[in-house]
Amino acid sequence: MSLEFAEPTEFQLIDEVLDLDTGQPIKAVAFIARELRAVMQDRAMIVSRLNKDLENPWLVCPYCMAAVYLVSSVDRKFFFRHRHEDENCPKKSGPGLSQEVINALKYNGAKESLAHQRTKELVRQSLLADSRFSTPQVEKVWRGMDRKKWRKPDVQTAWNDRRFAFEIQLSTTYLSIVVERRDFYQAEGGHLVWIFQDFDPQRTPRAEEDVFFNNNTNVFVANASTLQRSRETGKFTLECWYTIPVLVAGPILDEWHRADVSIDELTLDLERQRVFFFDYDAERARLNDELAEQGLEALRQTFECFWERYGGMSSTESIRTKWGELRDKFKPYGLALPEHYTEPPFNGIVSLMLSAKHGRPIGYGHQRLIQVANTAFDHYKPFLLPFGWALQTYGHNAVLDEQDTKGTWKKRRKMIREQIKAKDPSYERNTNYDALIAFLLPQIKRKLLRTENDKDQE
Ligand SMILES: [Zn+2]
Repeated sequence: MSLEFAEPTEFQLIDEVLDLDTGQPIKAVAFIARELRAVMQDRAMIVSRLNKDLENPWLVCPYCMAAVYLVSSVDRKFFFRHRHEDENCPKKSGPGLSQEVINALKYNGAKESLAHQRTKELVRQSLLADSRFSTPQVEKVWRGMDRKKWRKPDVQTAWNDRRFAFEIQLSTTYLSIVVERRDFYQAEGGHLVWIFQDFDPQRTPRAEEDVFFNNNTNVFVANASTLQRSRETGKFTLECWYTIPVLVAGPILDEWHRADVSIDELTLDLERQRVFFFDYDAERARLNDELAEQGLEALRQTFECFWERYGGMSSTESIRTKWGELRDKFKPYGLALPEHYTEPPFNGIVSLMLSAKHGRPIGYGHQRLIQVANTAFDHYKPFLLPFGWALQTYGHNAVLDEQDTKGTWKKRRKMIREQIKAKDPSYERNTNYDALIAFLLPQIKRKLLRTENDKDQE
């Protein structure tokens, strides 16, 4: 399925919030209209920050400075609400939940309690089947290191020095509960595992999303079949639903998968209070890099096409127009191209580096690479190092050797090395064009960015 984006409600009473971390105002619509996963993680972050320190909220109403939090309406759209309504705030909203809604929640609660009992028992039995766990305890107090704080997890157990709390996810499990439990067990050094009674990826209520978007998009279900498997294998086993991000001809898509997984196959990440089978976040970061690199490669090719055709020509009206279009495409990447492509030394440096990359003259009227090398020696001494790295890295030194029938380049190369070693100022490297060179020749990027320190260590 394609990535889901969060939607703001049509009318945003609190249309702007103030980010106290940055001091910047943010339009409510801009905060909300992002990928749902990110919004759900921020929604939990807002509550977590409020729980930790009421005096230091993350987002506040710019009119009354009261903390705000993000609410999901019944039609799955988001809006901001004051944590406490201030009578004097022009953005004050009316009363909260209507009595009908409260009654409906109570009714659901009663209906659910039976299923809740059953799931707790399934978890307890499954843990009993795995002798590595201590005897599971149901609804026993877990006293905090701060003795005033305590919780009563549905099921708790231990495995060597690791403590586990299992909480059954119910439709009435609100975000504040999810966040508060997560933060409590994290402070306790305990792993919190939310257990679902069942799961349908086609239909994910917000209460479920509050749990799994904050757990690397991994969902755990306990049922009769996972209990049976736990008993057969002697390993505590759950059903795991997880998304894998995939690249299909462009955008990233999320694919849901399911697997029976034993506790041994799970990553227990205490630092971020996550328990997961598949590392969605890591894979997603890798795909984002890949996508970004694909975009860069397309831009690189567009640039090279231009340079191959026009780099060595004098400017005309139509080439200037094409250059202007190219400059616009570079802007989002923070790479500023000069107003005129013919500008020295920019023009020469680009021709030099692209020729070294491809092993043939590009942007020059020359026939052979050796002529480019001689031009580099005569006119671009501060760029000889990257020129040499490019020839080496892209594998074109042999071309030069073959064309160097008189041995002139061989002699020059020796001289270049000696002069650079002797720190001859005319060879001192000019780094002003490094960002551009790194973009055009990504394979020598690391050499370009290496610091003086790195060189000393060689
Ligand atoms: Zn306000």
